[in-house]
Amino acid sequence: MPELAEVETIRSQLQRFLPLEIVNISTSSFANNFIKKTKSNFPFPLPTIEGSSLIKINRHGKYLIFQFNNVSINVSSNVSNDQNQLYLLSHLGMSGYWQIRQKNNNSIKLKHVHLSLVGKDISFDYIDPRRFGMFALMDQKNLKLKLTTQGPDLTSKKLNTTHIKKALLRYPNRSLKKILLDQTLFAGMGNYLANEVCAHARILPCRLAKDILIQEVSTINKTIKKVVNIAIKSKGTTLSKGGYKNAEGEFGKGINNLVVFYQEICGMCGQEKVVKTYIDGRGTYYCPKCQH
Ligand SMILES: [Zn+2]
Repeated sequence: MPELAEVETIRSQLQRFLPLEIVNISTSSFANNFIKKTKSNFPFPLPTIEGSSLIKINRHGKYLIFQFNNVSINVSSNVSNDQNQLYLLSHLGMSGYWQIRQKNNNSIKLKHVHLSLVGKDISFDYIDPRRFGMFALMDQKNLKLKLTTQGPDLTSKKLNTTHIKKALLRYPNRSLKKILLDQTLFAGMGNYLANEVCAHARILPCRLAKDILIQEVSTINKTIKKVVNIAIKSKGTTLSKGGYKNAEGEFGKGINNLVVFYQEICGMCGQEKVVKTYIDGRGTYYCPKCQH
């Protein structure tokens, strides 16, 4: 499942091709099912952004936020939109990714394309074989509403020791890993990042929040930034069994950084066998020698 590093890699690769004048929008027959998952009050039909200009792509946690300017909006007045701007919110689900397609490159026939933002020379294609992703076009008001359910982004300054302390105090009887995976507290965290953060912080993922020491909070904070930055620099993580591809169709190289996740021997001590267990049904990996 794409986590912060994978989504950020895709964002930065797409961003290089902006602004993109949208000549037209093409969708698969399944596209409306992705929209239904947003539960947004005013999802605009996707062709609304034809003729507009994609000027920016932001990210919050695992959400990509495409900003379109100069949209010709002809809808009822209860939609707040002063600046003719609309936003495409995109969540990649389990297996989704955006890919850049050059117009003169028709040699590759892509499968599972559900949405294409077609420009003059290039297009951005949304590909999702397992169809767990979601996207929808919305105005700023609804975008803000949607994002209020999210905690601070892992790369944000708002994610600091004060925030982590509060999160641990709120759920004293939850395991550290369960708290880290809560998107309302740590937006962008996913299973491999959470496993690796616990490992590098030398804390067992099953430790309860109430048993985390005050000095460990600072370690957790520093470790989140470190693990996330390394994963971004590696352009995301693709496991050996395949899966995630970035917007240029390449696999992420973050697998080389992993010390416990999907590992047999701990990458920190180089000796101990990694233990695999489950927390909340998610595969959980730790080194019994390095983590306490
Ligand atoms: Zn170890």
